[in-house]
Amino acid sequence: MELAAVVGFAAAFTVAATPDGTDWLRFAILAAGATVHIQLTQRQEERRRNRTKTVLIDLIAVWVFPAILVLPATLAVLLVVLIRVQRWFTARRPPHNFIFSSISHSLAAALAGLSYASLHPQDWHSVTALGSLREFGLVLIAAAVYEGVQVLYVGGILALSGPRPTVRTVLGSKADNLLEAITTGLGAVTAVLLVTMPPTVVIMAVVTVFFNRLAELDQLQDDVVTDPKTGLLNMRGWSESAERALERISRADGNLAMLMIDLDHFKWINDSFGHPAGDDVLGAVAKALGEVTRPADIVGRFGGEEFLVLLPDADAAAAQVAAERVRNTIAHLRIDTTDKRGAQTTITDRTTSIGVAVFPLHAATLASLMQAADAAVYEAKENGRNQVRFARPVTQ
Ligand code: GH3
Ligand code: MG
Ligand code: MG
Repeated sequence: MELAAVVGFAAAFTVAATPDGTDWLRFAILAAGATVHIQLTQRQEERRRNRTKTVLIDLIAVWVFPAILVLPATLAVLLVVLIRVQRWFTARRPPHNFIFSSISHSLAAALAGLSYASLHPQDWHSVTALGSLREFGLVLIAAAVYEGVQVLYVGGILALSGPRPTVRTVLGSKADNLLEAITTGLGAVTAVLLVTMPPTVVIMAVVTVFFNRLAELDQLQDDVVTDPKTGLLNMRGWSESAERALERISRADGNLAMLMIDLDHFKWINDSFGHPAGDDVLGAVAKALGEVTRPADIVGRFGGEEFLVLLPDADAAAAQVAAERVRNTIAHLRIDTTDKRGAQTTITDRTTSIGVAVFPLHAATLASLMQAADAAVYEAKENGRNQVRFARPVTQ
């Protein structure tokens, strides 16, 4: 990957024009804007970083993308380096990791600059309204190269190194990508301002600092519906999604099943191995639930060591199969964790009691389905645990 980067840099730098006075002035303005942005959003970036488990989208494209458009590739890369040096202090990531993503940013800037220059853009001062349409097209191409190189470079290494890369871990979430596209778009606006009315770039600095805050709001919205320990939906998130599914299915006269899953003798794990081990078991079960269910199923943490799974369009027979699959999967989990003294240990053979309630067979509302499934869990417990139990049919 690094070899590919060296070739890319060499290609971009050999054809880049030598910077003149105007270039250096524009460089100084962008560097000042980026510095203001980074310094005023440091705390927020740290918080965002701590939360993001997959790809971190850096809002700094607001400053880098205009450099790609209006500066020689050498200065665009210099700006990236300047930004990354400042970022180093907030990133707190392993050096090899940080250097790799710095190279990825720089290479994307160099190659996007190279492609843009090779398309011979016009001087924006003398471009006509109609002619600006072509220029806009060129900007879009440069943006596509900028994004494409980053996706290929970072995605490539994630795909090579990860045990099982998913589209989401390689490309980031939809929200991440939308954010990145908007950021790049703001970068294009910065470029226009920089060329036509440089002092207005100050406005962009203000916008980007507030935009950073908005990006954080979006993250916080996700947090509100997520259980931090397991990453599953919490009850608020689960109920919202479940209500929507139930509404849709009752309109279509369909079926739906609910599984209430309670781990057997969970307190024993805490007592024998310690609470961190208990947490590891919860994490492993949550991950397993995500894997044995379909994408349309709604998985949440009800509380403590209880989980809820809503299976849209499942009838009693399908629910039985799904519940047994869950029980079996958990029983076969091998969970690596630590015991009370911190020594490595593996927890296996965990059993589960699962209560199943089916709409409309057992109940008609989410609350009564939950009640029915919960009562079934208690019957499973009383009956010796490690089993799936159906709710009692409603007495008409
Ligand atoms: P049963 O087979 O009857 O379900 O027994 P149980 O031990 O699983 O159930 P009980 O309700 O007696 O105990 C649940 C335990 O789960 C007690 C509580 O300390 C523990 N617990 C709840 N939330 C968490 C958590 O987030 N992490 C850890 N480690 N333990 C938790
Ligand atoms: Mg319980
Ligand atoms: Mg339990």
